[in-house]
Amino acid sequence: MKYVSTRGSAPPLDFEGVTLAGLASDGGLYVPEEWPRFSQDEIAAMAGLPYAELAVRVMAPFTAGSLSDDELRNLCQAAYGSFAHDAVTPLVQLDQQHWLLELFHGPTLAFKDVALQLLGRLFEHFLSRSDNHLTIVGATSGDTGSAAIDAVAGRERIDIFILHPDGRVSDVQRRQMTTVQAPNVHNIAIDGSFDDAQAMVKRMFNDADMAASNGGCFRITAVNSINWARLMAQVVYYFAAALQLGGPQRKVAFAVPTGNFGDVFAGYVAARMGLPIERLIVATNVNDILHRALSTGDYSAGTVTPTDAPSMDIQVSSNFERLLFDVGGRDGVALAEQMRGFEADKAMQLTNAQRDGASALFTSARANAEAMRATMAYAAERYGQILDPHTAIGLAAARDAGIDPAVPVVTLATAHPAKFPDAVKATTGVNPDLPTRMGDLFDREESFTRLPGTYDAIRDYVAEHATESTDG
Ligand SMILES: *Cc1c(COP(=O)(O)O)cnc(C)c1O
Repeated sequence: MKYVSTRGSAPPLDFEGVTLAGLASDGGLYVPEEWPRFSQDEIAAMAGLPYAELAVRVMAPFTAGSLSDDELRNLCQAAYGSFAHDAVTPLVQLDQQHWLLELFHGPTLAFKDVALQLLGRLFEHFLSRSDNHLTIVGATSGDTGSAAIDAVAGRERIDIFILHPDGRVSDVQRRQMTTVQAPNVHNIAIDGSFDDAQAMVKRMFNDADMAASNGGCFRITAVNSINWARLMAQVVYYFAAALQLGGPQRKVAFAVPTGNFGDVFAGYVAARMGLPIERLIVATNVNDILHRALSTGDYSAGTVTPTDAPSMDIQVSSNFERLLFDVGGRDGVALAEQMRGFEADKAMQLTNAQRDGASALFTSARANAEAMRATMAYAAERYGQILDPHTAIGLAAARDAGIDPAVPVVTLATAHPAKFPDAVKATTGVNPDLPTRMGDLFDREESFTRLPGTYDAIRDYVAEHATESTDG
């Protein structure tokens, strides 16, 4: 499988290449040259497979040429063996029409583990093949950082630097990152928002001086959902859920708490691969750029409002570019121009083709703090389910979206409630327990570095602490 950049001028790469590169060299994001497509019979034949085996079937077309089926199978079995539930992503029925897809049974209690447990192993596999070293630089709004750190801590060929916005992640989220004591793990708290951190990481990927600095050459990559391999791994659970609910004979709708548009874009990929999906409901909080873009075509970034659902406190959704590319005729040159305009003005209008293409499958909804709390309370009372704030926003959107009652609606439960105990307790009165495997989190020692939110400070710190790659 070959991958092309959404901005049209970076060289096409194979799966190994895009996994190690992260962002494309022209500033775009990699997408498959064409979508692999399963027939309805092929999808029906996947019913009942164990999760790791389903993952092999769904991902094999994307990794073809870079991994044998056996290599992919070994990686999937190791990655999904680290989950605390045998089904990996179990479904829970709430009422006649609504289900939760629990994506939080991995080591750090959010859906990010589903992709990152695999990605860490893919990195190691490809690096040992080429005897190389990699520097990971990532920005986190809370959950990516801990999931990425857990996935690569202690791996010799990898250094990881994770930037989080100081004071804007929950204590559990911060401790899950800062209590990992491994020589290759570097936690940085920056003075600024997640969008500031993400912008600096993007800039570092395109910084020629950075590559040449310190007399060496760094091979830097991304673990944010701009990395294609993450989205690929997330496609699998859309298949898993739909198959359990009668797919491919029956269409299913999904409501997805959305920040960077990665998780819900994986649903779009599943649909392009032939999985019958009725609707993808993009759930946002008051940081609603995606809701505005999808409902009115106005893609303009406001300032970020911190909320109880910090992983959705994003105004620039990187992966939206992948959708705009695909529904806008895959014209990289035109999209590069459009994105340059957005980067200059922090605003753009979607074209008619982009709007029509998106509205064919996507619906959006916005839930403010009050709606989030009301839904959390409702789920506790009516279903006996304690939801985290992100999942509650997803369920609020699911209930609001006006989906045909004959269609099952699956809300992606993206985090365990114990990651956000303050918000959960304030609304439901329940103090959600950390699973026993995380028990001593609050007794472990933290270590992290505070840096000002300036690009130079971050770049210098990374350059000083990273190991050089051997193919400099
Ligand atoms: C990352 C995250 C999201 C947002 O996912 P995107 O792929 O960025 O849209 C939602 N909920 C939780 C709990 C998350 O960690």
